[in-house]
Order: sequence, then C-alpha cells, then structure tokens
Amino acid sequence: MNTLQPITVLGAGISGLTTAVRLIESGHPVRILAKEPPEQTASAVAAAIWFPYEAEPVEQANRWSAKSFRTFQKLAGLPGTGVRMMDFLVLTRSGMDNSWKDELPDGAVRPARPEELPTGYEMGYIAKVPLAETQIYLPYLMERFRKAGGELVVQEVKDVESLLQGGRIIVNCTGLGSRELFGDETVYPIRGQVVKVKKTRPVQSMVDSMNKGRLAYIIERSDCIVLGGTDYDNDYNRKPTQADTDTILARCRQLEERLGAPVVLQALAGLRPKRPAIRCEKEEGRNIIHNYGHGGAGFTVSWGCADEVRAAIILIARQ
Ligand SMILES: Cc1cc2nc3c(=O)[nH]c(=O)nc-3n(C[C@H](O)[C@H](O)[C@H](O)COP(=O)(O)OP(=O)(O)OC[C@H]3O[C@@H](n4cnc5c(N)ncnc54)[C@H](O)[C@@H]3O)c2cc1C
Repeated sequence: MNTLQPITVLGAGISGLTTAVRLIESGHPVRILAKEPPEQTASAVAAAIWFPYEAEPVEQANRWSAKSFRTFQKLAGLPGTGVRMMDFLVLTRSGMDNSWKDELPDGAVRPARPEELPTGYEMGYIAKVPLAETQIYLPYLMERFRKAGGELVVQEVKDVESLLQGGRIIVNCTGLGSRELFGDETVYPIRGQVVKVKKTRPVQSMVDSMNKGRLAYIIERSDCIVLGGTDYDNDYNRKPTQADTDTILARCRQLEERLGAPVVLQALAGLRPKRPAIRCEKEEGRNIIHNYGHGGAGFTVSWGCADEVRAAIILIARQ
C-alpha cells in the first residue's frame, strides 16, 4: 500500500507536468486537475529555450535554472524527449546582468567572436543550452506521468478547500490562473507572440533581450524556425496579430540575414505569468505548495522548481 500522501497538482503547463512527474516518480499518488490540457497552455506557445528571461529574483532563478540545465542535459541524450543541446548566441552589452551563465557547467559558455555577432552588436556569449521542442516535450512529460500511474482531469477548479480533505496536498501550478484562484494580484501577463517560419537553410539561434519593447529571438527547431517576440505587460490578448508578425519578421531579419524572406507557417500568442518574485513555497497554515509566476522562464526553471516543491512535501511529511 502507498503510504505517501496523495497530491493534487493544479495546472498542466510546463510547471504542473514537471512537478507531477517529479512527485509521482518519488512514490506519491498524483492527479492533475487543469482547466486546459497541455497543448492549450502558455507553455505550448513557448520557444522553449533554456534562458532565464523575466524570472525573479535573479539569484534564485539562476540556481533553479542551473539545476534544470543538468536535468535537461540528461534528457537531451534520450530519444523521444524533444530535448537537445544547441548553440545559442546571447547578445548583450557591458554593464548588463549576465549572471545567468555563472552557475553553468564548465565549458558551457564562451564569449562570441566579433565575426559571430550581427551588425551593430559589440558583445555576446555563445552558450550550449537545452532546447525543449514543446510539441514533443509536453506529450513526453504527459506520457511519463501516465506510465507512472498518473491521471489528468480537464476541469476548472474554483474552490481549493474541498480538495484538501482526506489529507491531500495541493500543488498550485496555475500560472496566471493564480490571480483569480488565489487572489494574487501581483501576478500579471507579459504577452508574447511567436512566428513559425519554414526552415530553408541553417541559421544562428540567438536572442537580444536587452531592451524592453525590442525583444528579438531566433530559435531553430527540427521542423521550423521560431521567431519572436513581443513583451507587452498586462496585455491579455491570446490571439496573434498581423502587426506583431510584421514587427517580429523585420527585427529577426535584421539580426540574421540568412532568414531571407521567410515563409510564415503559423503565428501564436501566449501570456507569460510574471510575478515580482517566482512563488515556489508552502503556504502558511495550509498544505498548499505554490509553484507559479515563472515569467519568461517556465521551462528554464522547471526542474529546479519541481525539486523545491518536493523538498517542501518532504518537510510536511516530517511534521
Ligand atoms: C511567446 C513565449 C515564448 C516563451 N519562450 C520561453 C522560452 O524560450 N523558455 C522558457 O523557459 N520559457 C519561455 N516562455 C515562458 C513559459 O512559456 C512560461 O513561463 C510557462 O509556460 C509557464 O508555465 P506554467 O505551467 O506555470 O503556466 P501555463 O503554461 O500557463 O499553465 C497553467 C495551467 O494552469 C491551468 N489553470 C489555470 N487556472 C486554473 C484553474 N482555476 N483550475 C484549473 N486549472 C487552471 C491552465 O489551464 C494550465 O493548464 C515563453 C512564453 C511565451 C508566451
């Protein structure tokens, strides 16, 4: 008989799935309740490259990111995960916070050579980082969870008290949903749009996230190239717009001329759940552990945060 407490995970985005996998593989009976299935979440829109963008506090986010990096590195060697390591050029300038690289394994990052930089840029790093192709990675996590005996029920949760009965523990991974479900007004959307274009020749994957309102990135996937992006605070529009598509194409073509005149396959928009500080902690007085507010880094911090949730659950068991 399983003697570990049963757990209900709320949410089936990257945070909910990763946490559910971590907990069920530690021996807990786990079920997921989610308003939307994985393929309809913000997580399914993500690029989803390892890079701690819009995730705070920076030091803590860097630690969770570095932990996740190591787990992703292992997944990259396994078939069917959709994870692989790729060279990623991070454009930057002196005086900017580049501490994201400090906790990575030796040899993972090097300064970019001048000829590797796009015109007009003076500084960058080439990092070998994990890329999780969401269309493969989210189903992979879901399958891993199901194989371990987990169940996903698609349903909106409106009241958490009833879910705590019978000694159940709740793990809240509802992202932006925490605004309504837990009354957290500090979590807000940063709307992001991506444009998937046809892959015709190799391009350099890269990001310029130096200036608010001027975000640009290029991520080469196995089946397409993902171009981004936008970073609009408090914009709840989940539909892509033609104006954003045009802006994204123009910015990315400036960065990488090998894009040529790209053929657009699809445009998607999603809402990054941003919070002044990622909330990954047990609530005072109730067996609810929160794991949300990861901004533009939900994939990047996912395994580190899942481990933090697991540690909080071990503490509950000892009480
Ligand atoms: C354009 C774009 C590009 C991005 N690129 C990257 C990237 O390259 N790297 C990276 O690390 N991150 C990236 N991100 C950020 C990343 O996608 C988010 O940080 C991540 O998706 C957050 O995941 P989550 O599981 O916390 O939330 P979500 O994916 O939003 O999932 C929330 C889940 O909670 C459920 N839910 C909400 N309310 C309720 C309720 N009341 N009852 C039941 N269920 C509920 C939802 O239905 C959903 O299943 C990007 C995001 C966008 C939009």
